[in-house]
Amino acid sequence: KGERLRLPPWLKTEIPIGKNYNKLKNTLRNLNLHTVCEEARCPNIGECWGGGEYATATATIMLMGDTCTRGCRFCSVKTARHPPPLDPEEPHNTAEAIAAWGLDYVVLTSVDRDDIADGGAEHFAKTVSNLKQRNPKILVECLTPDFRGDLSAVEKISLSGLDVYAHNVETVRELQRYIRDPRANFEQSLKLRDSGVDCVTLGQYMQPTKRNLKVEEYVTPEKFAYWEKVGQEMGFLYTASGPLVRSSYKAGTRAEI
Ligand code: SF4
Ligand code: SF4
Repeated sequence: KGERLRLPPWLKTEIPIGKNYNKLKNTLRNLNLHTVCEEARCPNIGECWGGGEYATATATIMLMGDTCTRGCRFCSVKTARHPPPLDPEEPHNTAEAIAAWGLDYVVLTSVDRDDIADGGAEHFAKTVSNLKQRNPKILVECLTPDFRGDLSAVEKISLSGLDVYAHNVETVRELQRYIRDPRANFEQSLKLRDSGVDCVTLGQYMQPTKRNLKVEEYVTPEKFAYWEKVGQEMGFLYTASGPLVRSSYKAGTRAEI
């Protein structure tokens, strides 16, 4: 459809850089960690890595390689039917690197691996337990795939020693078929924890590359504030809603709940 929308003023503002940002950025180089924060050029990086006003340094790490077996239309991650096999050393090496990095809160996420029997759940869980052994103080969130609705995969991760279980539904029910890979769907996602959700985050989609879906609307901060109020009234323990909110944005604040 037509021309690309112009960036509205509320998305052009500078995001503050917290005090630990440079330290984390400099020590990352030798650790061989792939952060979503850098790869997705997330605008919140200065705040998340720097700790910002909450003094909780947060980053999101991608597990299980850089190639996904699905192809959602809003996502710029590479796609293949048979990505390279998992690296069996990854749970150990990643845990060691994260523990050495100096984060307070880490979000572990991954591509979808429909080519592996348990979708990589064991691999995810091992990374968490390895990390907690090395650094029991670090808070760990797993932002997982839907595992095609396989609840035993969800259970493996839930029992790994994590602090927060997170999952993205990406869009409203009506748009699921249009923007997500056909193997994903709203009902399957909601079944993951019987929908007993404590926290909810709502943010603006930004087109990552020209090949991805265009932005149809920049939702105003006022509208986001309205949805935050709705979330609070619905009884969620924590609702974050704003143009730059991502599921991992200020994730450390949820740990206080
Ligand atoms: Fe990284 Fe998530 Fe923060 Fe973005 S919002 S910088 S991806 S932790
Ligand atoms: Fe991107 Fe996730 Fe969809 Fe894979 S499943 S294409 S990583 S959004």
